[in-house]
Amino acid sequence: MSSQGPVTGGCQCGGVRYSLSSPPVGAHFCHCRMCQKAVGGPFAALASVPTADLVWVRGAPAWFVSSNLAERPFCRDCGTPLGFRYVGSDRINITIGSLDDPELAPVGIHYGVEARLSWVRVCDDLPQVETSDDPDSPVPLSQLISHQAGDGE
Ligand SMILES: [Zn+2]
Ligand SMILES: [Zn+2]
Repeated sequence: MSSQGPVTGGCQCGGVRYSLSSPPVGAHFCHCRMCQKAVGGPFAALASVPTADLVWVRGAPAWFVSSNLAERPFCRDCGTPLGFRYVGSDRINITIGSLDDPELAPVGIHYGVEARLSWVRVCDDLPQVETSDDPDSPVPLSQLISHQAGDGE
């Protein structure tokens, strides 16, 4: 990582900015259906820091409680997805694309591959893990209750 101070990032309109006092780690793609919906793309790219190491230095995100287990910060004004956090966790994931320098978080693993789209060809040499194996979840994911709208709702 850069040796020139904290890692920074923010949304596309600049209304929400954050600073990380430790480098993001555990960079991964999540292909799960909920992350697809949350970022409006074929998968999410996320990396985590201790919650205490993230400071919102301009503005503040809105939070969508996407399930009984997780909540997702985003910019209320421009809609940029900014991350993902398990409720009660002491870590928070930030979207790698919202970093000012996404090169700081090279992805090392795929999660949620049970929902990986058949036509996605990216970093195919990396390990592939299903959502049910997610080691960061504080409770069994079988207890997840989605608050996202279903298809067609
Ligand atoms: Zn914004
Ligand atoms: Zn996911």
